[in-house]
Amino acid sequence: MNPLNQSEHTIIGGGIVGLMLAHYLNQSGVKVTVVDPSPPGHINQASFGNAGRLAFASYRPIAEPGLWWQGLSMLWKKDSVVRIPWSYRLAVLPWLLRLLRESSYRRSEQNAAATAELNALSKKCWDDIIQDHGLHSLVSKTGWLKLFSTDKAFTDMDSQLDTLDQHDLHWQKLSAEEVYQLEPNLGPGIKHGFLQQDSILIKQPHRLIETLAQSLAKRGVKFLVENISDIRKIENGLELCSVNGSIHTQKATVCSGAWSQKLLENLGDRFPLESERGYHLMFRPTQLIGHSIMHVEEHIVLSPMIDGLRMTTGEEFAGLDTPPDYKLIHAKLPSAKALLPNFDFSVQAKWLGFRPSLPDSKPIIDRHPTMDNLFLGFGHGHLGMTQSAATGKLLADLILNNRNEFNIRSFRANRF
Ligand SMILES: Cc1cc2nc3c(=O)[nH]c(=O)nc-3n(C[C@H](O)[C@H](O)[C@H](O)COP(=O)(O)OP(=O)(O)OC[C@H]3O[C@@H](n4cnc5c(N)ncnc54)[C@H](O)[C@@H]3O)c2cc1C
Repeated sequence: MNPLNQSEHTIIGGGIVGLMLAHYLNQSGVKVTVVDPSPPGHINQASFGNAGRLAFASYRPIAEPGLWWQGLSMLWKKDSVVRIPWSYRLAVLPWLLRLLRESSYRRSEQNAAATAELNALSKKCWDDIIQDHGLHSLVSKTGWLKLFSTDKAFTDMDSQLDTLDQHDLHWQKLSAEEVYQLEPNLGPGIKHGFLQQDSILIKQPHRLIETLAQSLAKRGVKFLVENISDIRKIENGLELCSVNGSIHTQKATVCSGAWSQKLLENLGDRFPLESERGYHLMFRPTQLIGHSIMHVEEHIVLSPMIDGLRMTTGEEFAGLDTPPDYKLIHAKLPSAKALLPNFDFSVQAKWLGFRPSLPDSKPIIDRHPTMDNLFLGFGHGHLGMTQSAATGKLLADLILNNRNEFNIRSFRANRF
């Protein structure tokens, strides 16, 4: 049977990470096919419904010293922002134990340093991509405002400032008065603010992905609607199998987000990839706030997007197949109302997405450990939008054997 498609390089997964790789390979003249069962910007993708922040200055991993106690208390607290249903507790235990291992001082500092480097590279790459594909109308460069109601959470930020300076990332501490000058519609009780001027807000993530995909298609990138079920070695390349047939490709990269491990299982791979589920609620559009804001103690993000105000919060560990439970995010509505009292928080739409998370809060950006012409780009957790551009650039350099000064060892596949 003739193959469905023949390609020089096939990218499995057309979320933000896959598209960024497509951009860099296409720029170097490689013939690229992106294969995905869903069209670009589809609601199934984590890249669809996120908070839209290119948070270059967010570099601390989830696993930090003290996680043990924090984690335990979060699990038992009734209004906790982390939820693990009883039915999934045993299944997620090995991942949680790995997370604990990453929480030593030494490991968390190493993970933070590597993430800061990756974010800084991504900032440069995103600037180029916004320019190159004319994405200006879909982003806003107003910065990201963190709000604090207690002194402790605010002073905890101090230890991060040197690293931000080292990477030339701009920040400003704000008094309560300065916060209310910037955002006069916020409710009472804010004691401090922290403005990260370098953070960019994607004002409609799914539209940005569609626009980028259309622009790439005009430059010759091919998009195929297929679900890949297996990857096999063949002479001169790889065969990617789907129910409709197979794709022959010289090289391929797995950018399948939270589904990557499932796809790689047949190759005997056991990457500790867990889906950290996250929810959003959409409300009507508003001009009551000008920045994407995060209330640190309440763990709420409010992002003013073109199609409405988006609220995101919380993490749920329940795998890829458990139906959504919107209780977690609805429970945060009173806190959101306190933050923006003059806004009508009638829910217009809701969404569940799957963050592809590895225990050290860093993605895998590497060649496959045993298959030379297969590459891996997944596991970006909370920062996939932010880090996608650097991931695309680093993977393209690896695939094309380009020299690159960036130390990608921290992102290697065999580190677990
Ligand atoms: C609530 C929430 C808020 C977030 N906020 C932010 C934020 O503000 N900033 C930030 O940087 N990040 C944020 N993130 C994280 C970010 O959205 C993800 O890390 C990122 O979108 C992952 O991109 P991806 O391309 O790896 O995966 P996805 O966007 O999920 O794309 C993976 C693609 O692979 C395809 N695929 C899967 N299996 C196969 C297969 N077998 N064959 C072919 N194709 C396949 C899927 O259909 C999908 O299209 C947030 C996430 C959530 C859930």
